[in-house]
Amino acid sequence: MAEIKEGGCACGDVRYQFTCEPLSCYACHCTDCQTRSGAAFTLTVVIPLAEIRVNQGKPGTFQNEIVDFVNCKRCGGRLWAIWKQMPDVALVAAGTLDDTSWVRPVAHAWMGSAQSWIGVNEDAATFDGQPEDPMVLLDLWNKRHESRSAD
Ligand SMILES: [Zn+2]
Ligand SMILES: [Zn+2]
Repeated sequence: MAEIKEGGCACGDVRYQFTCEPLSCYACHCTDCQTRSGAAFTLTVVIPLAEIRVNQGKPGTFQNEIVDFVNCKRCGGRLWAIWKQMPDVALVAAGTLDDTSWVRPVAHAWMGSAQSWIGVNEDAATFDGQPEDPMVLLDLWNKRHESRSAD
């Protein structure tokens, strides 16, 4: 049974949790992620949307054609996003988790627009742009965890 993972926004108004095993974890270096986050890249944990439980506060949403962003209405912090192409999964902003010790990306997307000084973890796959099939991100995560449990 997976342990409870908890997280929340910077001001503490919104708190959430999930108990499922994550489906994947990846970094995205696209210019859209860079601009939106103000950071060099975003780090995302993928889980089934139905597994997220909001324990405290009421997050707001901001939508565009591609994605719904779920934010804290008070501090504006991004909590997770829902990509309209894959509406059943939540793309959790990894930095909002209380414990990020287990968060290690299996892939780095959009390396073509990554900052020139970025180094990536050796056990991750890299993609110049978007992986053609997003399911590859889930496969990579499964493979990593299968090989671990086989040890
Ligand atoms: Zn907040
Ligand atoms: Zn991106």
